[in-house]
Order: sequence, then C-alpha cells, then structure tokens
Amino acid sequence: MDGEFDIVVAGGGIAGLTAGLGAARLGCKTLVLAGDVLGGLLLSIEKIDGVPGFPDGVPGYDLCPMAQEQATAAGAQVVAARLDGLAPANGRWRLSTGEGETIAGAVILATGAQLRQLGLPAEQRLLGRGVSLCASCDAPLVRKRPVAVIGGGDSALQEALTLAEHAERVIVLHRGKALSAQAAYVDRARAHPRIELRFATAVDDILGDDRLTGVRIRDLESGTTAVLDAAALFVYIGLEPATSYLQEQLALDPGGRIPTDARMRTQLRGILAAGIVRSGSPGRAVGAAGEGAAAAVAAHAFLSGGEW
Ligand code: NDP
Repeated sequence: MDGEFDIVVAGGGIAGLTAGLGAARLGCKTLVLAGDVLGGLLLSIEKIDGVPGFPDGVPGYDLCPMAQEQATAAGAQVVAARLDGLAPANGRWRLSTGEGETIAGAVILATGAQLRQLGLPAEQRLLGRGVSLCASCDAPLVRKRPVAVIGGGDSALQEALTLAEHAERVIVLHRGKALSAQAAYVDRARAHPRIELRFATAVDDILGDDRLTGVRIRDLESGTTAVLDAAALFVYIGLEPATSYLQEQLALDPGGRIPTDARMRTQLRGILAAGIVRSGSPGRAVGAAGEGAAAAVAAHAFLSGGEW
C-alpha cells in the first residue's frame, strides 16, 4: 500500500468499487480499501435484480469480482484492508487501516452495512448450525426441509424466493400486517406454492441445543404462542450501517447513516459517502453504483480546486 493517494475509497461493495473505477478513470491515484470480504453484502446474493443489461438478474459473486477487475484495470489499487479511523492532516486526511496508515486528499466512505440481528441469546450460539446469514449459500443444505425467514422487506422476500427453489416449505414470519418489499417480489412470493406468508407474527425464541430445531412464535393479535419446526432460520430484518471508524466526527441520521448533499459530500471537507451507508440511499445495487460514480466525480472536482 503506497503511502499517499488522491482518493481513498473505503468499502469493497458495488458503491466502493464503482467509486474506485470512476476515480481512477478521472486520473486520480486511487486506493480502495475493500475490507475483509470483497463485494460486501451483495457477494452472497444469488440474483441481484434491476441492474440494466442483466434482464435475468446477476449473481453477486459474479458482479463483484467483475467490478473489482474493472476498477483495477482502470488503475485503482484494491487491497483487502478495513478502514479503522480517520483524522485531518494539513488539509488532507490520515487514514488508519488494518495494513498501516495512508494519506488521502479525499475519502469516499462506502462501507455498507451488516445484517441486523434479533438479539436473542440462541441466535449467536446456533449461528452456522441452523441460524444462517446467507440464504444462497445455505439453500442447498435445506433440501426438502421446512425453513423460516424473518422480515417483510426486499431482503426477506428475495431470499425466501431463493430458498423456495430448494426447501420443502418456506415460512416468512413478518411482525407487521403488510409487506414493505417491492411488488415484483411480493407477487412472486404470494404465487409461490412453497412460500407461506404469516403476518402479525413475532419470533420470541430460537430453539435447539446443538442445532436449530425450530422457533417459538407469537401471534401479535391473539397473543397465542406456538412452536414452528424449521431446519434453518434466516433473519432479514434490516441493515446496520457500518460506521464505527467515524468516532463521532460526523453527525449521523437517526438510522445511523451518513448525511450528504446531492453530490455525496458530507459536512467534513474532503469526505464523501456513497451506497447504503449514506443517508437517503435507495438501497438498490444500481443506486449504490450511481452514488459511487457521483462521489468520484465530486471528489475529483474538489481535488481540482472546486469549492466544498
Ligand atoms: P428493510 O429495512 O427494508 O426491512 C426490514 C424488515 O424487517 C421489515 O419488514 C421490518 O418490519 C422487519 N423488522 C425490522 N426489525 C425487526 C425485528 N426486530 N423483528 C422482526 N422484524 C423486524 O431491510 P431489507 O434488508 O429488506 O432491505 C434493506 C435495503 O436493501 C432496502 O433499501 C431494500 O430495498 C434493499 N434491497 C433491495 C433489493 C433489490 O432491489 N433487489 C434486494 C434486497 C434488499 P417493520 O416494517 O415492521 O419494521
């Protein structure tokens, strides 16, 4: 990792890799800190929908390496390191990373998010033993067995559809009365013979000693509880933005995301944000890519002497 860069991008997901590609193409000396897992959350998605040019969707494990190759070919340096902290340094930024320190004229924060967890004690204990964070990875392991998915958003329904290709039955447990997922997923899930949608249902406990055997559910209207047998449980109840490196340098929105202006610029001169970590991001792969590209343009304009 060579010491000084025009632009350092933190994040190896689709927003970060597109920002790295854009910055390199604009002639900036660019480093992408791709974190521990290149591709971020999208890497584990079987089919990313809504990306122009891919009418049948594209697997995250295909799209992310392609985006990395493209950024590298354009001249960006991509390293497997995390951003740990940042501090002002004579009008530039000093970044501490898992691979040492580096200096940047502008920094694009595209660090994405982690899956939110329920917080039940058995969730961690049975992680990898029935409780799963990756439907596309584990779907083949639950062949012809019943599985449960928690959540009512795009992630829950998208992954339920993936699981339904393998499992005997997929029971989607949603605490609300209406799904918030996009119509394209809701319509397919409702029509799928192996997907059952249960509303006003909370999960009170995750059951099993060495391996998940099921979940204890509660009907939020009647208050009655029941045990639902399941070979696997997939928790898709939203995302936690990854911003721990910020150490209160920026005021975050109530959801923990980074506010920016329309050009992706934060309140800190030289710091921009893109993708799901950014306040107001639409949460689509194609939107994240667009924000990464816009952030690269704004960072380049700033380094070329533009106003902040
Ligand atoms: P969302 O925040 O959109 O949805 C979270 C779901 O989990 C809601 O149904 C919510 O219910 C429920 N929930 C939240 N907390 C709890 C809890 N403690 N217990 C039980 N249920 C809970 O998250 P997603 O991961 O679905 O989506 C994140 C972003 O990624 C969105 O912007 C989404 O559009 C995007 N996305 C886009 C895709 C695509 O375009 N193909 C695919 C996947 C994700 P409630 O409504 O009651 O709060």
